Amino acid sequence: MLLDKLRVLTGHSRKINWLWPLFITIAVLLIFIVRSWRDLPTEDMDRPGSWWVRVLLFSKIDSCQVETSAGFTVELVDGSKKAYSSGDKFQITLDANGFKVGTDIFPGGQILIRPGEPYIFTLDGMKFRGNLRLIAFEDGRFDAVNVVPMEAYLGGVIGAEMPRYWKAEALKAQAIASRTYCLYYKNTYGADRHYDIRRTQANQVYMGLAKEYNATRNAAHETRGQVLTSGKRVFPAYFGSSCGGHTDDSSEVFGKYFESVKGVDCPYCIDVARKSQFFWKPAEFTAAELTRKLVERYENIKPLGEIVGIEPRRRSDYGQYSRWTSVKLIGATGKSITLRGEDFRLALDTTGLKIKSTIFELAKVKDKWVFYGGRGFGHGVGLCQCGAEKMAKNGKNAPEILKYYYPSVEITKIY
Ligand SMILES: [Zn+2]
Repeated sequence: MLLDKLRVLTGHSRKINWLWPLFITIAVLLIFIVRSWRDLPTEDMDRPGSWWVRVLLFSKIDSCQVETSAGFTVELVDGSKKAYSSGDKFQITLDANGFKVGTDIFPGGQILIRPGEPYIFTLDGMKFRGNLRLIAFEDGRFDAVNVVPMEAYLGGVIGAEMPRYWKAEALKAQAIASRTYCLYYKNTYGADRHYDIRRTQANQVYMGLAKEYNATRNAAHETRGQVLTSGKRVFPAYFGSSCGGHTDDSSEVFGKYFESVKGVDCPYCIDVARKSQFFWKPAEFTAAELTRKLVERYENIKPLGEIVGIEPRRRSDYGQYSRWTSVKLIGATGKSITLRGEDFRLALDTTGLKIKSTIFELAKVKDKWVFYGGRGFGHGVGLCQCGAEKMAKNGKNAPEILKYYYPSVEITKIY
C-alpha cells in the first residue's frame, strides 16, 4: 500500500521497486558489521597483570537467563568444570541441591560462568565483558557479579557517565576519575563482601556493552593503570554532571574529608550544560506531600508531625553558589531533626531530576514549599563533567583538568 502511494506520488515506480530492497540490505549489513565489530574482545581480557573488578549486576534474584555466542564453561569453587558449546539461552535457577543450569545441577553456593572468546555474555538481555559469578543466599535467591578487567569495565562506565562524542581529553579525565573511584571502593569495601562496586548511581553507572563505544574504550585504554593519588593514597574521586558555578568539599556534602576533594570555582560548566539543567525550574511540593516523602525515606521523621519549618543549618560559603549542606526540619509538634542536604534533596525527589542540586532558595508559598533559583545538576563534589568538557574544548589535557578539580592531586600509574 505504502509503495503504491509512493509510486503515485513520485511517479518513480521502477526506481522505488529496486531501491527499497537495496536500502534494507545495506542497513542490515551495516547493523551486522557494527555489531560484530563492537563484540570483539578487548586487548586486556587475556593479558596477565590486568586488574579485575567485581561489579554487582543484580542482587537477590530468583533466576536469570544467560546466553553467549561461543559457548561457556561453568566452574565450581573446587575447580571442577563443565563446558557448554552451544549458543543457546540457559535459564539458571537455584534450589536446595545447588544452581541449576538448563537441566544440570551444580552443588555448592557459587558458580563461575566463563564465556569463550570474545569473552562476552548476555545476562537477562544485557551484554557484559568478562565472567559471571553467581553467589547463593540461604533464602534461595542469588547475586550476579560481573568479574571483569578494569579497562573493559571502564569502557562501559565512561559511556554511561559522559556523552561519547565529548572531547577525548574529557573522556580520559573521566576514565582516570572512575578508575580511582572504583579502586577506592575495591580497597575500602571489597575485602569484606563478594563484590567491589555496584553498577548504579549509588556508585557509578555501568551498562556493559550497551554504553561502550570506540571513544570510551580508547579513553580507558589510553589511560591504562592511571589513578589519582593524594598522599600516595587513592580517594573517592567523586564527579557530577554540572556544579552550577562552584564545586564543594566532600566534607561539607558527604561528611567525609579528603584532602583533594575541595570546592573550586568553576566558570566552565555554564557553557556546556543544557540551560534547563544549569538553571533548573522551580520545584513545588505541598506541605503534606513533602512530609510524606521525607517519612517514607526516614521513619524517624514521623514523630515530628507535619513539617512546618525548613532551615539551612549549614550552607557552604560561595555566595550565589552556596549549597544547603545541612538542613533542619521542624515539625508541628515542635520537635526537629537534621538531615544532610543531599539526603534531604534525594528523599524528596529520588530521581534527582526535579531538585537537581542543593544550590537553591526555599520559600513557603501558601500551602506549598517552592524550591527556586536552582543551579547545577548533581552533588557538586569533585570533577564537574560539563566543566571538564569545556576545559578540554579550551585545549586543556586530562591531567590539567583533573588537577584543577582535585587540587593537589597526583596522577600515578599503578600497573
Ligand atoms: Zn562546573
